[in-house]
Amino acid sequence: MEDLPWYKDGLRFKCTECGKCCTGGPGFVWITEEEMRAIANQLKISLEQFKREYIRSRDNRYSLIEKKRKNGGYDCVFLKDKKCLVYENRPKQCRTYPWWKENLNSEESWKMAAKECEGINDEAPVVPYSQIVQLLRRIELSN
Ligand code: SF4
Ligand code: SF4
Repeated sequence: MEDLPWYKDGLRFKCTECGKCCTGGPGFVWITEEEMRAIANQLKISLEQFKREYIRSRDNRYSLIEKKRKNGGYDCVFLKDKKCLVYENRPKQCRTYPWWKENLNSEESWKMAAKECEGINDEAPVVPYSQIVQLLRRIELSN
C-alpha cells in the first residue's frame, strides 16, 4: 500500500487576502515569457515595454521588480492597497502559494510557512488531502 504523506488528513488553510506574501524582505517572483505576455496583454503594452518597466533578470531567469517601502521592506511592483493588480494573470509562483514543495516537506516546514502566511491557522477550514493532491498535480503539469 502506498505510504501517505504526513498531511494525509488534510491541512488547514484559507487565504485571508492579507497580501503579506506579496511583500516583505527582498525576494524574487519568477515569471515565464508566457506569463509576462499575459500580463503585458492585460496592461495593453508590448512585451518589450513590460520587460523594461517591470522585469529584472537574474541567472537567465526573469523576476518581477519590487518597490521599496518607506517604512522598510519591499512590495511586489503589482501590489496596491494589499491587492494584486494582475491577479487573473499572476505568475504561477503566486498562484501556487502556499502549496510549494518546500512548505509541504514536513510538519515543521508547514509550521514555518504559517509564520509568513496567516491563512495557515488552526481556525481555517481543512483542505482535504485529495484536494491537495489535485493542486500539486496541477502545479506539476504546468511546469
Ligand atoms: S500570506 Fe497567506 S493569507 Fe496572506 S495573502 Fe498570502 S496566501 Fe493569502
Ligand atoms: S504578482 Fe500579484 S500575487 Fe504575485 S507577488 Fe505580485 S502582487 Fe502578489
